[in-house]
Amino acid sequence: MTDFAKKTALEAGAELVGFTSHGDEQIVVLGYPGNGCIDLLELDRLAEGVAGKFEKHGYSSRVISSHDGGVSLRMLAEDAGLGFVGRSGLLITAAFGARVRLSAVATTAPLAVNEDHSAADGCMGCRICEDACPSKAIKHKSVEMCRAHVDPPAEDRCTICVDVCPYPR
Ligand code: SF4
Ligand code: SF4
Repeated sequence: MTDFAKKTALEAGAELVGFTSHGDEQIVVLGYPGNGCIDLLELDRLAEGVAGKFEKHGYSSRVISSHDGGVSLRMLAEDAGLGFVGRSGLLITAAFGARVRLSAVATTAPLAVNEDHSAADGCMGCRICEDACPSKAIKHKSVEMCRAHVDPPAEDRCTICVDVCPYPR
């Protein structure tokens, strides 16, 4: 089913695909290049298409939404081998740096999950995003400090930590 899952994810528009597990479920993590240009509902719709294909093969499947407050898609993506969670708290990928959006599908389908976690320390001493962050949110690991800086007006959204990251190298 792993090859089928990869093919299905790529057909759904994902450019990065990886597999991990969470509890009793296998997780397909899908990555799409972009930084805010794909809305969350569109990501869910693409993932629903993938889940539907598994269902047709008799495997119970559901979409894991980035906005349901549950498991972190970034951590799942790291576990699945799509990249690493950097100092900025963003998923950093070799192909797209931090400019990547994520969705995921949990399924009972048997999949070959990623066992290689060697890329987990990709920052390797870099502090560029921390030094550039205008709210000091990265230094203090504070989501609230970031939100206070990036909240409305939306057109002034801060993307500094995305923009300054040297990945893709
Ligand atoms: S979005 Fe801006 S304020 Fe928030 S962590 Fe990134 S650089 Fe800092
Ligand atoms: S800018 Fe440097 S420290 Fe920040 S996430 Fe990218 S590689 Fe890591």
